Amino acid sequence: MSQYILTLDQGTTSSRAIIFDQMGQVVEIAQQEFRQIYPKPSWVEHDPREIWSTQAAVAATAIANAGINGKNIAAIGITNQRETTVVWERETGKPIYNAIVWQDRRTSEFCNKLKTDGFAKMIQEKTGLVVDAYFSASKVKWILDNVEGAREKAKQGKLCFGTVDSWLMAKFTNLRVHATDATNASRTMLYNIHSNDWDDDLLALFDVPRSMLPEVRSSSEIYSQTATTLFATKIPIAGVAGDQQAALFGQMCTDPGMLKTTYGTGCFMMMNTGSKPAISNNNLLTTIAWQLNGQTTYALEGSVFMGGAVIQWLRDELGILQHASDSEKLALSVEDNGGVYLVPAMVGLGAPHWDQFARGSILGLTRGSSKAHITRAALESIVYQVTDIANAKMADTGMNITEMRVDGGAVANSFLMQFQADMMNAKVIRPKVLETTALGVAYLAGLAVGYWSGIDELKSLWSVDQEFNNKLDEQKRSHYLYDWHKAVERAKRWSE
Ligand code: ADP
Repeated sequence: MSQYILTLDQGTTSSRAIIFDQMGQVVEIAQQEFRQIYPKPSWVEHDPREIWSTQAAVAATAIANAGINGKNIAAIGITNQRETTVVWERETGKPIYNAIVWQDRRTSEFCNKLKTDGFAKMIQEKTGLVVDAYFSASKVKWILDNVEGAREKAKQGKLCFGTVDSWLMAKFTNLRVHATDATNASRTMLYNIHSNDWDDDLLALFDVPRSMLPEVRSSSEIYSQTATTLFATKIPIAGVAGDQQAALFGQMCTDPGMLKTTYGTGCFMMMNTGSKPAISNNNLLTTIAWQLNGQTTYALEGSVFMGGAVIQWLRDELGILQHASDSEKLALSVEDNGGVYLVPAMVGLGAPHWDQFARGSILGLTRGSSKAHITRAALESIVYQVTDIANAKMADTGMNITEMRVDGGAVANSFLMQFQADMMNAKVIRPKVLETTALGVAYLAGLAVGYWSGIDELKSLWSVDQEFNNKLDEQKRSHYLYDWHKAVERAKRWSE
């Protein structure tokens, strides 16, 4: 009987289920969107029951459409939107509040106070994270402080906290398991990435009782067998990792110094730094890449808020493009950017600039500037932002970046990839299978059950679609980067 791996890819806007075969090829995909709930400006919630029901539905659909059944599934892997926070009753499995999504800003003020009270350094040393509402800790605190009776129940050990992986695990095992993996734990701001345990000082600071927390396990091991009736048979859940970490593994960036960037709405660059956490002086995040065979591997992460989203903006708000893919031809219709620079700071700037008051700007316009120049400047801006993060990583680690693996919707744009290779003076490698997030956790699950023999076998499955090599001379590169930074300075502090 043929055996496959089922990945549950629980994202911010949709739940997906993907079935992979032993060659790491996609056999079947099912996807369902779910509601985004905005109770107030800057608040973002999901209904945990919808996260569960859509995830269960797509799992069943994918299996049915593939013409197989649960007995054909060797293992399940779970990868998920990170940091999003769910609190449920231990006894009944009922959520006591909606999931507070990573994008939610309701705890910004509390986080700012932590910074002014001088906690940032201690928190960064323990967790590798920059103090921000983004992470789970302040969200759990908010739920305990604001849901009636929650704090009392938490003290009595009657509540469970979990990120989305934990929540799905609880549901798929009929509440038998309350666990998470180290990558997800490392995004909560309650987990000490050096001692690999929940940190008592942080638990006290955020006022979260230890009894609420899931057991932290490795990213690749048999957590439990499923206990739902959904699959008509028990299937081991054997791999868990946050989405960006899973993508790093799916890209087989398994040696120190290897990195991948995902070009979606935003851009996420992750670099494997090996068995030692690299603490950043440039506001990058230190995080756990995975825990495998008793070994913890660390990564350095930097993100760009507006990546492919700037192309959406050209399409939907300016109407310059009909389809995102038209950007490539239009950009190539001019010789260069014509001196035009676009800083896509519509929601401020992320790493390494970190300016929440920066705003979008277009500079260097002349009478001859056309929509082609603006489109080219928009694509270039994605590249410059990623290049700034790469340079910060090199400064933080002393490692030289010579190649980068890429994935995400925007990597279809070959102009973008070529310019990225040019600006980083590095090889940019686009693999054949771009479902790297789902693939990564499929690999982690498959390794745990012996579906694949080891990393060497997985490396042999990874294959290149296209490589892009630098074609730009140093003088032009530094000229572009110089002008870009001049433009960034103009955009900074705009709405202060
Ligand atoms: P997400 O997972 O964040 O929703 P995807 O990985 O699906 O994002 O990528 C979609 C993003 O990529 C969109 O922001 C879109 O504008 C951009 N995009 C898609 N195709 C292209 C292209 N050919 N050139 C440039 N950008 C593109």
